[in-house]
Amino acid sequence: MLLACLLAAASPFPATAQDAPLPPATTGSPDAPAPVEGGAAPGAAPGTDEDDGGWNFDDEEEEERALTTAEIVKPQIVDIVTFTGLMVLCMVSFFKKSEKLKIATLVYTLVFLGFLRSQLYSVVNIFGLMTMSLPIFSHSIFTYMFWGVTLGTTVVWGRIYCGRLCAYGALTQLMDTFVPKSWQLKIPVKVEQNAYYFKYALLAFVIVYYFVTKDILVSRWVEPFWMFGALANFTAFTSVPGAWVLWGLLAVLLLASIIIKNLYCRFICPVGTFLGIISSVTTIFRIKRWSECKTCKICEKACEWGAIQGPRIVRSECVRCDDCERIYDDEQKCVHHIVIRRKEEVLAMQAAQAKATPLPS
Ligand code: SF4
Ligand code: SF4
Ligand code: SF4
Repeated sequence: MLLACLLAAASPFPATAQDAPLPPATTGSPDAPAPVEGGAAPGAAPGTDEDDGGWNFDDEEEEERALTTAEIVKPQIVDIVTFTGLMVLCMVSFFKKSEKLKIATLVYTLVFLGFLRSQLYSVVNIFGLMTMSLPIFSHSIFTYMFWGVTLGTTVVWGRIYCGRLCAYGALTQLMDTFVPKSWQLKIPVKVEQNAYYFKYALLAFVIVYYFVTKDILVSRWVEPFWMFGALANFTAFTSVPGAWVLWGLLAVLLLASIIIKNLYCRFICPVGTFLGIISSVTTIFRIKRWSECKTCKICEKACEWGAIQGPRIVRSECVRCDDCERIYDDEQKCVHHIVIRRKEEVLAMQAAQAKATPLPS
C-alpha cells in the first residue's frame, strides 16, 4: 500500500486506469491479478482461521500460488515488449553513434514512456529506494525493467537515461531541434559552474524534507514530470489544489528552456543530480580522449551539457549524447586526425622531395 501511494503521488493528478501503479494483488490494480475474495467467517468450522487464532492465510496464499507465470505476465506483456523495443533502439543508437536513431529514440521515449505510460524516474523513486519500499516484482516487471535499465546503464556508461530515456529530457531535446540557435543564450562559464551547486542543494533539501515530513508530494514542486499524467487526464487537473500554479511554472520553465538549453536538466533536476552522483563514481566505460584534447576546445564548445572542462569529461554532467564522440571519430573535424594527416602529408612531401633531389656523385 505504501508503494501504491508513493507511485501514485508522483503525479498530482489522478492516474488513468492504465497508469495506475502496480501494488500488491490485494489492492485490485487493473494490471495485477484479481484480489482474493472471501475469508474465514467468524465462528468458522475447525480447520479454518479460528484454529490459528485468525492468522491462517492459507486461502490467500493458495490463490497467489495458483497464478501461473503466463497469468502474471499477460497483463504486463504489452509494456514489457514495447519497453524492450525501446531499449534495443536506445542501445543501437548509442553504439552506432547515430544522430537519426537517437532522434527516433527520443520520439519513442516521449510517446511511450511520456504520453502513454507516464513512467519517469522521480525523486519519489529515490525515496522508495532509500526506504526500501519496493513493489512486488511479479506484478511490476515493467517497472523493475525500467528501474534496472536506468540504474544499470548509469553504472556502466553514465547517464544514458537522461540522454535518451527520460520523457521530459526527450521533450526538451526535441524542442531544441526546432529552436533557432540565435534564440539561445550562452551562459558565462563562471555563472554556469556556480549554478550547478543549486541542484545539489535542492536534492539534499528534498531528501531531508522527505525524511522529516514524509511528504512525497514535494515532488510536484521540484520536478515537472506530473505533466505527462496530467495531459493524459486533463479534465481532472482543475480539482487539484495548486494546479494552475504548477501549470504556470511549467510554462515558464519550458519558455526559459527555449532560451537556455537543457535548463532544468542541467541546473535543477534532482533525479539527474542523483544519477550524476552515481555515474561520477561508477561509470565503467568512459568517453575516450586524445592527447590533443588537453589544448583543443572543439568538443568543449560542442557539448551542450557543459560536461567538458578542458581535457576532462565531467561525468556527473555528461548524458552520453554522443556529440563529442562523433567528433572524436570524425577525421575531418577532430584535431587529432587532422594533425596526423598533416604529419603524414609532410612526411610524404619530404620523401617526394628527397626522391626528386639527385644524390651528389
Ligand atoms: S536531468 Fe532530469 S529531467 Fe533531465 S533528462 Fe535527466 S532525469 Fe530527465
Ligand atoms: S576535436 Fe578531437 S582533439 Fe579536439 S577536443 Fe575533440 S576529440 Fe579532442
Ligand atoms: S558532448 Fe560528450 S561530454 Fe558532452 S554530454 Fe555529450 S557525450 Fe557527454
